[in-house]
Amino acid sequence: MKRVFYNSLGTEEMYGLIREVMPAGYKLVTLETDEDEERCQKIQNCEVAIVAAKPMTSSIIKAAGALQLVHHQGVGYHDTVDTQSLIDSGIRLALTPAGTTIGVAEHTVLLALAAAKRLAFADSELRQGRWHINSLRPVSLEIHGKTVGYIGFGMIGQAAAERFKVFGTTGLYFDPYAAPDKARDERLGVKPAGFDELLVDSDIISIHTPLTEDTHHLISFDQFEMMKPTAILVNTARGPVVHEQALVMALSSGQILAAGIDVFESEPVSPDNPLCCLENIVMTPHISAGTVDALMGKMRSLFENVERFFRGEPLENEINLTD
Ligand code: NAD
Repeated sequence: MKRVFYNSLGTEEMYGLIREVMPAGYKLVTLETDEDEERCQKIQNCEVAIVAAKPMTSSIIKAAGALQLVHHQGVGYHDTVDTQSLIDSGIRLALTPAGTTIGVAEHTVLLALAAAKRLAFADSELRQGRWHINSLRPVSLEIHGKTVGYIGFGMIGQAAAERFKVFGTTGLYFDPYAAPDKARDERLGVKPAGFDELLVDSDIISIHTPLTEDTHHLISFDQFEMMKPTAILVNTARGPVVHEQALVMALSSGQILAAGIDVFESEPVSPDNPLCCLENIVMTPHISAGTVDALMGKMRSLFENVERFFRGEPLENEINLTD
């Protein structure tokens, strides 16, 4: 029996869904608390670890004497896996792009639409007996006819563009590493652009980069200054790509119109976070890929890879840690 450690604290219902798709011969080892002490104890004799949003730190990896494979449940490993510790211990790393892309792309459109119509505020006000039938009109927008600027144009950026296009938008993208593809750009109605040009010309700015040294605080005070006063910022990538204090300033001063945010500089978000006092933001708790469809799709794909690993076959979506 191979033991598979789940590094994030979930619910019994969620663990049940994972067990439903697990092949025979595997045991899922789960947490009862969100404490690293329990992680270090439970991971000890597990051969595989599954990582989601909760980071797998060097102390957890050092405690994992039997660990051979870390499998990320999604793709954002730069900030969630201590790769140097994996290299030091000869542990391999693979990702699960399956199941992530559609959920995040749908959530991106959802946040753009919700921010454009102040959905969270309108809903909360209605529940308290305040009926904003006309007062939201001057600050509500349609997304039809707007320009969406994609910062990072990989799988999720492109899937978001495919969905936005249905609403009658055109697109610009900034991605210094994306291979040019004219046919794709024509199909998606997008054009490559410089970073500053995208900030100045876009009505909706949507972030789809990984969190790296280069993207940390990529959107900060200077970048908000360049945006239109009617711009909407959407972040479903990673919180620290946006300087959160600069975002608070931009939203509260009217430098931009609104924002839809799924990821934050510090998670979970404290109720004292100044973003919680603003009317022109819609926030969700890092749930872009958090659907039952995504979880089942990811787990099927992940366990197919784990089976490949134990059969000694090449892994899909393995990260070459020696690069
Ligand atoms: P991907 O690797 O297919 O695309 C990322 C793109 O970003 C690449 O094309 C890359 O060239 C580009 N990029 C890298 N550095 C850049 C920079 N400095 N400026 C502009 N572009 C840059 O990955 P993906 O599947 O599209 O996922 C994108 C990100 O979404 C992930 O790295 C992760 O952080 C985030 N994500 C969030 C959730 C969530 O639940 N909110 C879920 C999954 C993924």
